Amino acid sequence: MPDANPNQHRFKFCPSCGSNRLDADSVKSFKCRECGFKFFLNCAAAAMAIILDDQNRILVTVRAKEPGKGTLDLPGGFTEPGESINHGLVREVKEELNLDIYDLEFFCSVANSYPYKCVVYPITDMAFTCKVKDFSLITPMDDVAGFKFIPVHDFDTNLFGMDSARKVLKKYKIFSNIK
Ligand SMILES: [Zn+2]
Repeated sequence: MPDANPNQHRFKFCPSCGSNRLDADSVKSFKCRECGFKFFLNCAAAAMAIILDDQNRILVTVRAKEPGKGTLDLPGGFTEPGESINHGLVREVKEELNLDIYDLEFFCSVANSYPYKCVVYPITDMAFTCKVKDFSLITPMDDVAGFKFIPVHDFDTNLFGMDSARKVLKKYKIFSNIK
């Protein structure tokens, strides 16, 4: 048996025929025992921004909501339907911090899962380095309670609530030491 489906007891009704005979079929799929329909809970795309100020400090946010309320995070969030990953990140950083990012460059991707209430969503997280011309209008909004600038080489990854942000920052620490 491969990895268990983390939502095996959460999806019971078939979206095709409406019967309650939907069973977990793989780590990400469910199959209806009534009509044979297969439902997939595929990975959602999300993006994170690595933004440095002129003192080589990384801009991090404080999460306003669960999961991980009160812990540190990188700015960013889920891509909306119809949006590119880049546009999604530009929009999220504007919504969260009122900042305009540009010169986005792909840095790395990490796999993640995001528990929200009773459902666990599989996530493909992508991190981008980006630039900001003017930090003067920075304002925490939306799902962000505050922000901090932390030194690239001296911070505790355990202060970050999300596994994905910890993984990206560990990679970034190594990358910026090599650079
Ligand atoms: Zn069915």
